[in-house]
Amino acid sequence: MESLVCTGCRREVDGRLWQARCPECGEPLEVTAPPGGTVRDGAPLLERFANFLPARSLGLHDPAAVLTLGEGNTPLLPLETIGKRIGLPRLLVKVEGANPTGSFKDRGSVAGVQRARALGFRAVGTVSTGNMASSMAAYAARAGMRGVVLVSATIPRAKLAPIAAYNPLLIGVEGDYGRLYHLSLELGPKLGVAFVNSDDPYRVEGQKTLALELWQQLRRQVPDAVVVPVSSGGHMAALLKGFRELYALGHIERLPRLIGVPAAGCGPIAAAYRLGSTVPVPWAEVRTIAKAIANPSPPSGRRLLQAARSGAPLHFLSVTDDEIMAAYWQLSQEEGIFAQPDAAAAVAAAHKLAESGVLRPDETVVAILTGHGTKDLTPLESNAPVRLRTCSLDELPGVLESAL
Ligand SMILES: [Zn+2]
Repeated sequence: MESLVCTGCRREVDGRLWQARCPECGEPLEVTAPPGGTVRDGAPLLERFANFLPARSLGLHDPAAVLTLGEGNTPLLPLETIGKRIGLPRLLVKVEGANPTGSFKDRGSVAGVQRARALGFRAVGTVSTGNMASSMAAYAARAGMRGVVLVSATIPRAKLAPIAAYNPLLIGVEGDYGRLYHLSLELGPKLGVAFVNSDDPYRVEGQKTLALELWQQLRRQVPDAVVVPVSSGGHMAALLKGFRELYALGHIERLPRLIGVPAAGCGPIAAAYRLGSTVPVPWAEVRTIAKAIANPSPPSGRRLLQAARSGAPLHFLSVTDDEIMAAYWQLSQEEGIFAQPDAAAAVAAAHKLAESGVLRPDETVVAILTGHGTKDLTPLESNAPVRLRTCSLDELPGVLESAL
């Protein structure tokens, strides 16, 4: 069985138990690097990259027992119009909204639920108000397991529907949301619920497949830079882990630069990075439209900041709501790609980085579009460019003729 190691103190932990964080120092645990080998094209995500994943812990030896809803293999598309205008002609987007439940979270959920099932759990849970909640509820249903979703009691009803559709046990909890994360990890093992939160070691293994898939889609090359929305820090840590393992295996000759993008209205990791600190700056008041990239107490913040200090090519840049919304409309209206505002933040950041010369015109840059636009219709409802003309059948020919 593969073992787990602490990302903080490097202490080794028994990988047969369900635990997400180090019992000594409290930092996230991670799976030690698997041996690596070939990619199995055409197979479901976990099988396709089984040689790069903890295959034994995940129980991938039996293809019939491999969980899938068809996650991964998302499009990698050039942004020709936007790229040319902002001076990045080789700007690409990875459309993670094309995953089964509309977000990048499905890669991590499939791995986390697969691991929980391999360990004999009958229930899986998560603490989330958005993409991760619906993703976990879907994979729990697929695996025939009970789904448990803990949300903030103040969650808007519109956000509940895409979670409730899968019929998990859905509980709104009053009180501090950051503490709820830690409480879930305490309660889970006692109650027989495997909580697969944002930076669970096996979720990170699943999210890591995004780095592997980029390498595969770019014909065994990596881009010069990857721009990724950042919230808890788990996704960015997973990308770094994936690229580092490819490097360690000799598949690539350099690591891409990773640029994490939080909303300016809540950026504890970016603020600490600017100060040269390895401790996320506590954030009192969250003010942004991009709620999915606004975690006031990011559980993987310290891990990323420590990696940056010890030489990993990580950078952070906040974007304002105005910058996010400009990129949001450009993506849908100029490129035909409908992404949620939190995802458009990556393109907004690429624009700023091109202006400041951090990203250069000759570089291949991939912006990760983490979620599909239908996941959050707030911008359309509150600020709608929806123009509906009405006319009679008799008037229609004339209306069309004058408009076209
Ligand atoms: Zn530790």
